[in-house]
Amino acid sequence: CSSSGSAESDKLIMATNAEFPPFESKSGDGFVGIDIDIMNAVAKKLGKELVVEDMEFDSIIPAITSGKADVGAAGITVTDERKEEVNFSDPYANAIQVIIVREDSTNNGDLTGLKVGVQQGTTGDTFVDWGNFGEVASLERYSKGFEAVQALAQGKIDAVVIDNEPAKVFVEENEGLKILESGSISEEYALALSKNNDALLADINKAIQELKDSGELQQIIDKYIAE
Ligand code: GLN
Repeated sequence: CSSSGSAESDKLIMATNAEFPPFESKSGDGFVGIDIDIMNAVAKKLGKELVVEDMEFDSIIPAITSGKADVGAAGITVTDERKEEVNFSDPYANAIQVIIVREDSTNNGDLTGLKVGVQQGTTGDTFVDWGNFGEVASLERYSKGFEAVQALAQGKIDAVVIDNEPAKVFVEENEGLKILESGSISEEYALALSKNNDALLADINKAIQELKDSGELQQIIDKYIAE
């Protein structure tokens, strides 16, 4: 039994959190989304079989550093803190943090004194914690972004800070919410890999570049994100 992540392995184990549409979500017995399609295309180029492992978002980097998974693909934002633990591939998408509030809110992006929900361990969590959106009254951490948005719709919290594309999906799925673009912070998504797997990183960066050059990457994004 060869260990995952070895160069000889015929499997490419992807750690994700399938609670982040349109990048990854569950569909029947399987998974759909931009990251799933990108990783299937990457695995094909590498001649490997993609295996998707679904877990909590804040378990993904530990799964990579411990060698349980080969690649973290979950709309993961490149940050200096995470770079201390993992290597990142070249970026494949851009994102911003947005604020979701109820439709009747007059908030202009300053969350001072409000109860704010985030998905645990995300950049939204970090930025709210750092006070980037003001001194919040409380920071409520949910294991799923969708749960934070539901709590907002139910009036339990006042705002949610989350990535822009999942925000659009969650606002469509819940009545009476709107997205504020103000105060947004620009981010890049990349794949997370072990610091001890430079060969796989090089292969994956080559595959991403080929997907960019052929237009396939943009086709995958356009399939899930209507402009
Ligand atoms: N982009 C955000 C982050 O990296 C959120 C990712 C996610 O929830 N899947 O923290």
